[in-house]
Amino acid sequence: MATFVKLSTKAKMPIVGLGTWRSPPGKVKEAVKAAIDAGYCHIDCAYVYQNENEVGEGIQEKIKEKAVKREDLFIVSKLWPTFFEKSLVKKCFQKTLSDLKLDYLDLYLIHWPQGFQSGNVFLPTDDQGNILTSKSTFLDAWEVECHPYLTQEKLIQYCHSKGITVTAYSPLGSPDRPQAKPGDPVILEIPKIKEIAAKHKKTAAQVLIRFHIQRNVVVIPKSVTPSRIEENIQVFDFQLSDEEMATILSFNRNWRACNLFAASHSEDFPFHAEY
Ligand code: NDP
Repeated sequence: MATFVKLSTKAKMPIVGLGTWRSPPGKVKEAVKAAIDAGYCHIDCAYVYQNENEVGEGIQEKIKEKAVKREDLFIVSKLWPTFFEKSLVKKCFQKTLSDLKLDYLDLYLIHWPQGFQSGNVFLPTDDQGNILTSKSTFLDAWEVECHPYLTQEKLIQYCHSKGITVTAYSPLGSPDRPQAKPGDPVILEIPKIKEIAAKHKKTAAQVLIRFHIQRNVVVIPKSVTPSRIEENIQVFDFQLSDEEMATILSFNRNWRACNLFAASHSEDFPFHAEY
C-alpha cells in the first residue's frame, strides 16, 4: 500500500498528515514534534488557525535536530477568504511562509473557495523573481470533509477521474469542533466501526483513518495528544476487507460536522448533499 499519493505535478503527498485546526498555542509545537518523531511528513496548516508560528517552531526544531529534512516534509497551508482580493493574496501567503519559517510550501490551498476569482491566482516570487512555489501547484488538490457519515463517493470519483487529489478533513468527525451540538452523531462511537476495529485489534480512530487510505484519499487527523498522534499513523499494518469497506460506505447520510449554513444563500454554497 502506497504511503503517498501523486499530485499531477508528480510531487508525492504523504497520505497521512497531521491536522492543526484548534491545536492551541502551548501544545501545537510539541504536537508537530511528536508527529515528526512518529513518522509524519505532512502537516496541514492554515493562516486562520492562528498557530502557524508555533507549527513553524516545531518544524524548525526537528530540522535542526536532523530528525527530518525540509525536502522530506510536505507542508500545506491555505489562503483565507479575507485575502481573496488580488492585492492581498501575496500578503497572506508571505505571512504564512514567515510564520512557518519556510521558504516554500508544498501545497497552497484556497480556504473556503466560494467567491474566489481564478484571476487572483498568483505565482509567489521572492525579490529576485524566483518562484517560491516551484514545488507547489494550484487546482489539483481538494480538501473536503469525509468520514463514514459523509462518504463523498461521487465527488471523490469525479476528482480522481480528473487527476485531482482529495484530502479528507474531520476524518474522526471533529469531536472538538466549536459548532458541536448535543445529539450530534459521534463518529468515533459508531458501534460497527468499533466492532471492525476490535476484529483487527485496532482502535476506531485507526479504522476511520484506514478507510481513506484504501480509497487513495489523503487523511489529516488532528491531535495534540502524543499517544493519539502515534496511534493515528499506525495504519499501514492492516487491511479492511472489501466487505468492511462496503459496510462503512453504507453508513453515508450526508451529515457534516463542519457546515457553513450562514453562507447557504450564496450561489457558490459548497455544502449541498450531492453534486
Ligand atoms: P478530526 O476529525 O481530526 O478530530 C480531531 C479530534 O479528535 C480532536 O478532538 C482530537 O483530540 C481527537 N482525536 C484525535 N485522534 C484521536 C484518537 N486516536 N482517538 C480519539 N480521539 C482522537 O477533526 P478536525 O476537524 O480537526 O479535522 C482534521 C484536520 O483537517 C483539521 O485539524 C484541519 O487541519 C483540517 N480541516 C480543514 C478544513 C478546511 O476547511 N480545509 C476544515 C476542517 C478541518 P486531541 O487533539 O485532544 O487529541
